[in-house]
Amino acid sequence: MFGKDDGGGVSGAATAEPPLVYLDHASTTPLRPDVVEAMAPFADRRFGNASGSHRLARDARAALEDAREQVAASLGAQPAEIVFTSGGTEADNLAVLGTLGAAERREQPYVVVCSAIEHAAVLAPARAAARRHVCLELASVDADGVVDVDRLAELLSDDTVLVSVMLANNEVGTVQPISDVADAVHQRSPQAVLHTDAVQAAPWLDVAELAGGCDLISVSAHKLGGPKGTGALVVRRGTRLEPILHGGGQEQERRSGTNDVAGAVGLAAALVLAGAERDAEAARVSALRDRLADGLLAAVPGTVESATRRRVLPGHCHLRIRGVEQEELLVLLDDEGVCASAGSACASGALEPSHVLTAMGVGPDEARGAVRFTLGHTSSEEDVDRALAVVPVAVAKLRGDDLGA
Ligand code: PLP
Repeated sequence: MFGKDDGGGVSGAATAEPPLVYLDHASTTPLRPDVVEAMAPFADRRFGNASGSHRLARDARAALEDAREQVAASLGAQPAEIVFTSGGTEADNLAVLGTLGAAERREQPYVVVCSAIEHAAVLAPARAAARRHVCLELASVDADGVVDVDRLAELLSDDTVLVSVMLANNEVGTVQPISDVADAVHQRSPQAVLHTDAVQAAPWLDVAELAGGCDLISVSAHKLGGPKGTGALVVRRGTRLEPILHGGGQEQERRSGTNDVAGAVGLAAALVLAGAERDAEAARVSALRDRLADGLLAAVPGTVESATRRRVLPGHCHLRIRGVEQEELLVLLDDEGVCASAGSACASGALEPSHVLTAMGVGPDEARGAVRFTLGHTSSEEDVDRALAVVPVAVAKLRGDDLGA
C-alpha cells in the first residue's frame, strides 16, 4: 500500500509497481504545470509581504491584486468582493460564522437553513453555532441528492439569516438548482444571506453564471489543479460579514493574516485555465466517466449508480456495489494502483454511513458498498481501461466468486 511512486518508477524487478490510476480528483487534483510555473517566482525571488511598502512588498501586492482581478473575473465578481482564504474550509467557515457574527442582535434565535448534504465545512460551524442562539434547519434532498426547493422554501421566514446550499455535492456529484434556491430566498427571506459552496463545481461549471444570485461563494484551488491551502470567498458588495480571523486587517479587514501571494496567483491561474478549457474538458471527461460507469455496471452485477448521470458533475462516478465493504474494496484497488475513495472524508475513521447517502434515503447496508471514482484533468483512456480490468476482479474476490482458472 505504501511506497508507491508516481507510476513511472519500478522499485525492483520482482516488485514492479502497478501503474498508478488516479480516480480521486474530487478529493484533490495534481497541480497543473502552468500553475506551478505561475507560482514559482513567488516561492523564490518575489517573496515580499504584500502589506509592506518597499519595492518587494509593492511587487507582491501588484501580483496579489492581479490575481484578485482574475479570480473576480472568473467568478463573476468585482475585485473588491474577493477575500482570499486558506482554502474551502475557511471560506465556508467565514461564510457561516461571519454572517452570524454580523447579524443584528435580537431576542429570537437566528435561523440558518442548510441543505442536508452540505460539506462538513458548512455543517460543522452551523452546528457549533446552533448551540448558541441559532436554530439550524436542514433542507431535504431527493433520491438523487438534489435539494427539494419547495421544501426548502417552507423553511424560510423573516427569522432566516443565512441559507447555504452547495453548487455541486462532493460525494455523489449532483448539481444543485441554485438559481431556484436564490429565487426562493429572495422571495421569502430577502433579508437572508445566501451562500453557495462552489468548491466542487468550480472545475466544471460556470460559477459566474450559476451563482449570480448568491451573496457568498466559496472556492478552493486544489480541486482545480491549483495549490492546497488556498481558496477564496466572494462577498458581494453590501453583504455584512464579521471577520473570524483578527489581526493585521488584511483583505479589507475581512481576513487578517499575511497574504499567501503564491497561493493567490496559483488559484487565479487554475481558475483561468479551468474557464478556458471548461467545455472541452467537460465533454472529454464525461465521455471517459460514461465509459467507466457503463463498463462497471455491465461487469459487476449488483451495482447501481447513486445518482442520475445527467444530474451529476462530468467527472463523478459514484456507485453502490452490493456485497462488498467499501474499505476492503478500496484497499484491494489501492494494491492494484487504483486510487478511489469512499466519497466522504471521515477523519476519525469511524464507519458511520455517509450523511449524504442517508439524506438520499440509502440504508446503512447499501451505503457500505459505496465507492466514488472521480475523474479530472489528468484522466485518460488508459486509466479507464485499467480500472475496468481491476475493479470487477477485486469485487469478485471480496464476494468469494469463482474467478476461474
Ligand atoms: N467544500 C466542499 C464541497 C469540498 O469538497 C471540500 C473539500 O473536499 C471543502 C469544502 C473543503 O475545502 P478545502 O479542502 O480547500 O479546505
